[in-house]
Amino acid sequence: MKEFVLKFLRDQGKYASGEEISQKLGVTRASVWKIIKKLQAEGYTIQSSPRKGYRLVETPNVITREEVANILQTQLLGKNIQYYEEVDSTNNKAKEVARLGASEGTIILADKQTLGRGRLGRHWSSPAKVGIWMSIVLRPPLLPYQVSQLTLIAGVNMCEAIQEVTGLECKIKWPNDVVVNGKKVCGILTEMSAEMERINHIVVGIGVNVNHKSFPEELPHATSLAIEAKKDYSRRDIIKAFLEKFERDYIQYKENPTLISILPRYEASCITLNNRVRIIMNNEEFIAQAIKIGEQGDLIVRMDNGEEKMIVSGEVSVRGLYGYS
Ligand code: ADP
Repeated sequence: MKEFVLKFLRDQGKYASGEEISQKLGVTRASVWKIIKKLQAEGYTIQSSPRKGYRLVETPNVITREEVANILQTQLLGKNIQYYEEVDSTNNKAKEVARLGASEGTIILADKQTLGRGRLGRHWSSPAKVGIWMSIVLRPPLLPYQVSQLTLIAGVNMCEAIQEVTGLECKIKWPNDVVVNGKKVCGILTEMSAEMERINHIVVGIGVNVNHKSFPEELPHATSLAIEAKKDYSRRDIIKAFLEKFERDYIQYKENPTLISILPRYEASCITLNNRVRIIMNNEEFIAQAIKIGEQGDLIVRMDNGEEKMIVSGEVSVRGLYGYS
């Protein structure tokens, strides 16, 4: 009902009388009025005039299924959207629906996560309505080792999407944090269900801090787009820009699974490169110079003795970022 009234008002673009809506819907005018009240309570600005009826003036900054679907121009990602006011973690939800057979491109969106996670089970702060807490179900015919490459592709596309929507200069901290003015605005956590040679499904989980005005003390290296730009952004616009961009690269990567065409874009945004880095790997710690990204998405560093090392995973701190000096 609500969706129908919204769609009607949107299609109409001007005033629609209560009579007209009630006839189309087959309900009383009193019910129409109740639905309008509900929409207004959700944040929709709807003007009402006793003579002319109702007019939709402004859509609130919501990421409900209908509002996201309404603006998305994709072929694959987001054809099936599930929205929740609150979930434990969108990745958990996505893994659950994927196990039950959800189609490739299914998207889980939530306004709030109570148990948001980063890598290694670390907590990811996800308060209500200020961020994008989203997970995407993918079923690519790839080998398990290629999955980390998809995460890089997601990272570079989120970096470009945020830059396009906000105009803020965005960087990527290898492998896939998006950083603005030296602080983290986005994290990506990819999880997969696979056998030795075959992927059942992948879940790409993405958290973007959009309209936060502050962060708890324990997150000194986090920031939001609103804090950096001193204005709020539409979460839908960022979701749209990201999914449309990521989809193009994802489809291409499935056909031809190599990072070659992506690497120049990635390297151009990568703040880790040409910087001193501290690496903690297998309980060993060393300092080196980050020099390039390898063809498989690995980080190549040069030690002070001239030896080059390939870093596939591990903790990499970049001088000048997140308090490392
Ligand atoms: P990393 O890869 O940088 O270790 P993850 O992407 O796994 O981190 O995210 C987890 C870490 O990010 C947490 O340990 C915490 O320090 C930080 N963090 C938690 N919530 C947020 C947030 N909303 N924005 C930025 N950083 C966060």
